[in-house]
Amino acid sequence: MYNISDLAGRSIECDCGHRHEVLIKHMEVESGAINHLPDVCRKLFASGNALLVADDNTYKVAGARVYEALINHGFNADICMLKRPSIGYDADETSAAQAGISSPWEPADAIATDERSIVRIMVALKPDTAFLLAVGSGTINDLVRFVSSRTGIPYISIPTAPSVDGYASTVVPLLMDGFKRTVPGTYPTAIIADTDVLCNAPSPMIAAGFGDMVGKLTALSDWKLGHVLDDEYLCQTSFDMMSSAVQKCLSDPAGIRQRKPDAIKALMEGLILSGIAMMLVGNSRPASGSEHHMAHYWEMLFAQKGFRQAYHGAKVGIATPVIASVYKKLTDMDETQIKAMADAYTPVSPSVRRQRVADAFGQLADEVIAESSSVWLSEDEQKQRAHYIAERWTAIRDALRSSVPDPQEIKRLLADAGAAYSAGHINVDAGLLHQTLLNAMYIRTRYTVLRLADDIGCLENLAAEVTKEAFLE
Ligand SMILES: [Zn+2]
Ligand SMILES: [Zn+2]
Repeated sequence: MYNISDLAGRSIECDCGHRHEVLIKHMEVESGAINHLPDVCRKLFASGNALLVADDNTYKVAGARVYEALINHGFNADICMLKRPSIGYDADETSAAQAGISSPWEPADAIATDERSIVRIMVALKPDTAFLLAVGSGTINDLVRFVSSRTGIPYISIPTAPSVDGYASTVVPLLMDGFKRTVPGTYPTAIIADTDVLCNAPSPMIAAGFGDMVGKLTALSDWKLGHVLDDEYLCQTSFDMMSSAVQKCLSDPAGIRQRKPDAIKALMEGLILSGIAMMLVGNSRPASGSEHHMAHYWEMLFAQKGFRQAYHGAKVGIATPVIASVYKKLTDMDETQIKAMADAYTPVSPSVRRQRVADAFGQLADEVIAESSSVWLSEDEQKQRAHYIAERWTAIRDALRSSVPDPQEIKRLLADAGAAYSAGHINVDAGLLHQTLLNAMYIRTRYTVLRLADDIGCLENLAAEVTKEAFLE
């Protein structure tokens, strides 16, 4: 059921009451997969020329083989080589340090997903371009996904690193006039991931992919929470698909660090399945919860200050044990404790909330308020909500206890995989971690454990305790 090559192109009549469509027609994660590309292209596209989009590094590690494979099998192909002012693709931690990059968890200067890169691809298109090939990791796939959606020319994704879960995604985080916004793109017709290439990706990129997969642990817990507490839609098929992919990825963290082909294959499949799970339910609920909101908060703040950014997955990985600690502290409480908190609950007025968001988000505050204030409750509603939760506490706790992993265990997995696991690794100090726990819930309207803690009036206490513990170790 969860084998990705079997899932490709399937239509699933699901117990959740929906019919799910896997719109990607071919998916494979294999050693030597690039050799299968000409056959796949022949099957999917009747005829026409290809445009291969790569940068100088991804061309070197995979693009040249892709180009040769196509030419040798009678295809015509043009190359759009995006320029990056970077150090080498095979940058390891030492060369990253030599290049003046302050931490191995930060990407080298990379191609931006911006207007300039999009125009470069558009200029390379010809009237007879029949399909696009995105040879690269997140950014190149994002760019080609955008161009494909606007031109209607289909594309094949050829990942060069198991670093993000966006290969099967349909949205594009686009930088326009220096501001980042999410715009619609389209899914690839096929994903061909060659483990021979993926195993040679830079260690920090592999570690980032692992961090993003670790984040699914708390993302799934948040989904279950929304379902148990508010009867939010949960597709059990997608939920189970995601959790089994996560378990498989996390089963051999040392294998990830050592780049064992089986471990790297499980990681890449997990990242692709994560995109498929989002495609099945039509939103990012299966793959993104409070740990992602924390990561987004850091991203927004660092961008405002002009700081270097760690890889997305590094931020998500670091946030996950922090969120797991919040879960653990909450699920350790019994009904009497929660009821006492509900009785003592002091509502927060909308104007106080506005001020908190203004203080936490600076120039982005208006945008954040526009996004999240629709779920802010009136003072009376807040009191009712606290009691509503207290009455259902035993059921909520029972549902969550089994699903939330131990924070120390998550840190150990990250460390074993060679991934970042502590806020200090990405220059998040105690003050910022505390601020993040208090404000990350304002980034989206999605229900998460941070909003649960806020709803029963213990977010401030928990944030202080969790921050203290994170910096004691
Ligand atoms: Zn993510
Ligand atoms: Zn379903």
